[in-house]
Order: sequence, then C-alpha cells, then structure tokens
Amino acid sequence: MIERLRDDTLNLMKIPGLSGHEDKVRDYIKEAVKKIGLTPTFDKLGNLTITFPGTSPRVMLFTHMDQLGLVVRKIEDDGYLRFERVGGVPEKILLGQNISVITKNGKELSGIIGTKSHHATQPDEKYKVPSYRDLYIDLGLRTASEVRTNGIDIGSPIVYKPSAEVIGDEKIIGTSVDDRAGCAVLLEVARQINSRAAGPEINIVFTVQEEFNLRGALPVAQKIKPEIAIQIDLLLASDTPDMQDFGEIKLGEGPGISMFSFHGRGTLNGVIPHPVLVKHFEQAASKENINLQKSAHIGALTDLSYVQLVENGVASIDVGFPIRYSHTAQEMCDLKDLVGLTKLLASALNSIPKDINLIRD
Ligand SMILES: [Zn+2]
Repeated sequence: MIERLRDDTLNLMKIPGLSGHEDKVRDYIKEAVKKIGLTPTFDKLGNLTITFPGTSPRVMLFTHMDQLGLVVRKIEDDGYLRFERVGGVPEKILLGQNISVITKNGKELSGIIGTKSHHATQPDEKYKVPSYRDLYIDLGLRTASEVRTNGIDIGSPIVYKPSAEVIGDEKIIGTSVDDRAGCAVLLEVARQINSRAAGPEINIVFTVQEEFNLRGALPVAQKIKPEIAIQIDLLLASDTPDMQDFGEIKLGEGPGISMFSFHGRGTLNGVIPHPVLVKHFEQAASKENINLQKSAHIGALTDLSYVQLVENGVASIDVGFPIRYSHTAQEMCDLKDLVGLTKLLASALNSIPKDINLIRD
C-alpha cells in the first residue's frame, strides 16, 4: 500500500491540472481506476465518479483533482505574458517563480516570473510584495507572434513548474500535494473497497474546480443525493516556527478531522461537522490505533461547504492529512499520514451502521 501511495502521489503531482483544465489528471485516475477493474462515470464539468453499490446510507467520498495557478491575461508585443490568478495564489512567492504554461496541444512551456535585478533594487523596494498585476512571465521568446506560434493564447493555463520528490523521513515535497495526495489516498481506498463483501453504497468522486470556486462538486452531489459526505483535503500543520500559535496539527502525527472551518472573505461559508460522524471517526481511529488530529480555524474551506447544503442537507465531515507551506510551489506532506488516512477511511467506511441515525430531532 505504501509504495502505491508514494508512486501515485508523486506521479499525480507532476501532472499539470489547473482548475477547469483537469484533463490529464483525470486521464491518470481513469487509467488507475480501470486497472482496479472498475468503470468510472463522468459529467459535463469533468467530475469522475466510481460507484460501489450497497445498502443504506448513501455515502459520497470525494477529493479535488484541480490545482491553483494562473491564466494568461495579455501577451505583450515583446513576448512577455501578463496573468490573472486562479485560486488562492500567494503573491509573496511569485517573484522569480518557475512556471509552466500549457499550450493548445498540451505541451508544457517553461518560463519564469520576472523580478527586477537585485543590483538595481532600491532600499525602499527590498521588502515590498508587488501586486501580481505588475508582474510578467518571461518565456525566453522575443515577440507576441512567437508566443502565439508556440500555442499560447489568452486564457492559457499556467501552473508552478511541476516537481515532486521525497526528502528526509518520507516527506513528500513539491507542487499540488493539495490535493493529489488526496487523489492517491482515494485510489487506494477504492482498491480496498473493491474487495469488500457488503457495506453501504459508496460513491468515490474526484472533483473539479475546487480551487477556483469551490462548487465543481455540486452537480455530482445533486445527482448522487448522498446522506453522508466525507471530503478529503489538507489540514494546516502548525509545527513550523511561524505557525506555533495557530493550532495543534503536526506533520507525521496522523490524519485528522476539521471541527470548524470558515471563510469570511466573500464566501461566508464553512463546515461544522455532523456530531455523529465526528464520533464515528473517533471510534474508527481508536479501533485502528490511529492518532486522530483535530483542527478548528478560519481562513480555509472546501467544496464540502456547498455539498452539505444539497437536497435535504447532508451529514458532512472534512477529513484530511497535515500539510506545510500550503498553496506554495513546495507543499509538504508525510507519507505516514497518507497511510494512516487510508486506513482510517477504510475502517470508518466499513463500520457505518445500516441504521445510522443522522436526523437531529
Ligand atoms: Zn485542496
């Protein structure tokens, strides 16, 4: 299991898949799903679903395939690109960043986000973060027509230059650990569920456009009408020197659940998990001897915020793995946590009682 989790995570991290452009990630997952002997289904947005028929309650277990990045806003006469942000890209890490622009035929063109030569930088500029609107991408090309001839146009997707490696004590570092690690975990969960004899109906969904508008999962949730929704994504690790007072999540100390998430900037949404599901995951963790970590903070949310409101309401919980340096080009997770998360999910799914009472009367 650990080898498959490592390989799938590293392979998926190297595949560019900006929100709305998840095709190559979906292709990888489709092939992996077929190898298990399962038949995935698709919708117009690009969500990929695997259904395991079963008894009540109906479960939707999901994670997002897409990643944040940029799109081409303008091609300057001298070949430089101006860009827009897609998702929560931190502006403070953009200067000097290696990027890949995806051409019309799917090729990756390397480039760099330019930064004023250090020798020419004035004292008052040294500690300032410029707006992304003033930045530009240098592809090493000289004219707008050269750029267009290479298959780049307005709206072309741009991602951090894909990278993935294992460092230290099985720490995985590189691009889009958020949420290709989640995709690798759900592929492994699918392999395990495939050999079960009985259990609840489980729909594993690899969703789109989470980083863009948090709602790509909505159409598929409206179709499935789940009674339980379990969402897999990162949990913010606070074991680096700059995050000490943020919370208690530590890298390598096990998977976790979110007890409260909220995002006030425009969305006014978040998730307070269903108490029956919190108890269920606590019990599954203790049965499997897995340390279950917990987070509660504002500033982040997932597509579960919208899925929970489908139809008559869905009993919901965010489950995840610790991550450091979220939304940068070098996110870090621990392979041990992915193993723990896979075991936790398999155990929790196997033990959902047929008559679980989710109505709060
Ligand atoms: Zn994510």
